[in-house]
Amino acid sequence: MFRLPVCPHCRAVYRYGEVNRMIFFHPTRERTCYHCKKSMKPLLRGLFLLAAIYLAVCFGSTIAIVNIFPNATALTVFIVNVCWTVLAFMLRPFFVIFKANEQKKKR
Ligand SMILES: [Zn+2]
Repeated sequence: MFRLPVCPHCRAVYRYGEVNRMIFFHPTRERTCYHCKKSMKPLLRGLFLLAAIYLAVCFGSTIAIVNIFPNATALTVFIVNVCWTVLAFMLRPFFVIFKANEQKKKR
């Protein structure tokens, strides 16, 4: 975790912006590694984990704010949750894993 995805064949590293673009436009499309030209597929399982962590953090921080600061307004809670949303959005590429694509086709 907290590592950018690498090619499952040759371990070529993908840059943050590249991964971001990939998962933004066609998240489930097959990819060809820029280095070894082999086929691979992004695994989005990690993103569900990120979403689960994000929801838990939002929920937890909302409860914490209300308990610790009784005078906190809905706006405070909203701003904090917006911060978490931005953070979760920025962390997405770190939760993607590339999986080797099976080339075997059934006839
Ligand atoms: Zn490769």
